[in-house]
Amino acid sequence: MELQKPTDGAGVNGCPTCAFEILGDHYLEGEVITCGGCSAELEVVGLGPLRLAEAPEVEEDWGE
Ligand SMILES: [Zn+2]
Repeated sequence: MELQKPTDGAGVNGCPTCAFEILGDHYLEGEVITCGGCSAELEVVGLGPLRLAEAPEVEEDWGE
């Protein structure tokens, strides 16, 4: 069985922005962590393997 690498841009065991390696099995899906390389906020989007995506930035303009 071949392992397929995802092509949707999500990082696998690493930061999608700077490729800083992030390993661990204590994360939870949906958890937002901070990259130790570029300080970007990353959301855990998959487990086994750990996959990370850039967390959506919080909009400061709420359009009131
Ligand atoms: Zn990073």
